[in-house]
Amino acid sequence: MNKATKFQKKHSEYGIYPIFAIFAILIVSITACSKKRTLSTAPMPQIDAKYAYQMVEKCVAIAPRGNGTEGTQKCVDFISSEIRKLSLPVTVDKWTDITPEGHIEFVNVITEIIGESSDFVLIGSHYDTKKLISVPDFAGANDGGSSNGVLLAMIKAITESKERPPLTLKFVFFDGEECFFNYTETDGLFGSRHLAEKWSADGTLKKCKAVIILDMIGDKDLNVTIPSGADSYLTETLLEITKKQGTSQFFGKHSGDIIDDHTPFQKLEIPTIDIIDFEFGKANRYWHTSADTMDKISIKSLEIVGNAAIELLWNVR
Ligand SMILES: [Zn+2]
Repeated sequence: MNKATKFQKKHSEYGIYPIFAIFAILIVSITACSKKRTLSTAPMPQIDAKYAYQMVEKCVAIAPRGNGTEGTQKCVDFISSEIRKLSLPVTVDKWTDITPEGHIEFVNVITEIIGESSDFVLIGSHYDTKKLISVPDFAGANDGGSSNGVLLAMIKAITESKERPPLTLKFVFFDGEECFFNYTETDGLFGSRHLAEKWSADGTLKKCKAVIILDMIGDKDLNVTIPSGADSYLTETLLEITKKQGTSQFFGKHSGDIIDDHTPFQKLEIPTIDIIDFEFGKANRYWHTSADTMDKISIKSLEIVGNAAIELLWNVR
């Protein structure tokens, strides 16, 4: 997969259909105005960033975590055991999918923190690593590892704080985000496609108010750029939160959209946001290379993103 296949520029579409673009802007503006952004003043948990970093280290220690490998099972066991330490339920969802390399077993790990409402927010991250023939021991410290460390730290912080979130929180550790060759309807996003289909079929998604994805957020040179396809309320609320938290210099918007685990839910018209820093090293040069290692990861970056994400969870309407 190259960068162009993950990022999808949308400017050309507006060039072809300027009238539709104007209508789209009007609709987006009306929607954004209809949901007033007054940030919640409720006390909110803060993550233990050192714990988040340790969790990233543990993910890296069991790399590679390629689809259907021993690393996958080890990672599933590791994530499940961290969650069980908090006395939370763990659902291990296994299924076999058809991939460009034949039938492979995939595993999503899900846990839940009950909120004041049974309406829920899905917050997810992929734990699999890209299968790279040129880098057989690919560590995936940032791409796969970092967001899992933050998710586990968020779960721990929220559970231990006893602050009840307004909405129920479903944390999902996705398998199979990485594609074998190119992102298509049958390659890549295996875990998120599977869950979107499953929860759409059984009606679970009717109560889903938002899908928030974290990916590649541990870089020392943190520069989160929210893709253009993100829900406008979630985007503007996140940016407002970062202003309040004094971290707005690390967040901005991207002119292009991106394919990631939010995509299958976005297609079902659920509000989504992908919190991703897709500039990993100058010109993204560390991405999917042997340079994606722990020395590129910053405790501070994990802390900034984790605390912004927790406050966003408290502000989903
Ligand atoms: Zn990747």
